[in-house]
Amino acid sequence: MTCGLCKGDMKESFTTSVTTFDDCVIIIKHVPCYECTQCGEAVYDGETMERIEEIVDALRKVVTEVAIVDYSGRVA
Ligand SMILES: [Zn+2]
Repeated sequence: MTCGLCKGDMKESFTTSVTTFDDCVIIIKHVPCYECTQCGEAVYDGETMERIEEIVDALRKVVTEVAIVDYSGRVA
């Protein structure tokens, strides 16, 4: 797998996903991703993006300002 920006090598890594909407922020920690060893660009695979959407959908109904969750943990 190569980087879409600089064609550098991508390595498996973890990142923090930040999603904002209206006045709310949802932060998901320890999201698995591929990270470029040259420019640091991070990409998610399709399964991970779906999971992020599920977490955000579930949280945006209950969050008022900021939510910080772990990707692997269950949303309370
Ligand atoms: Zn790159």
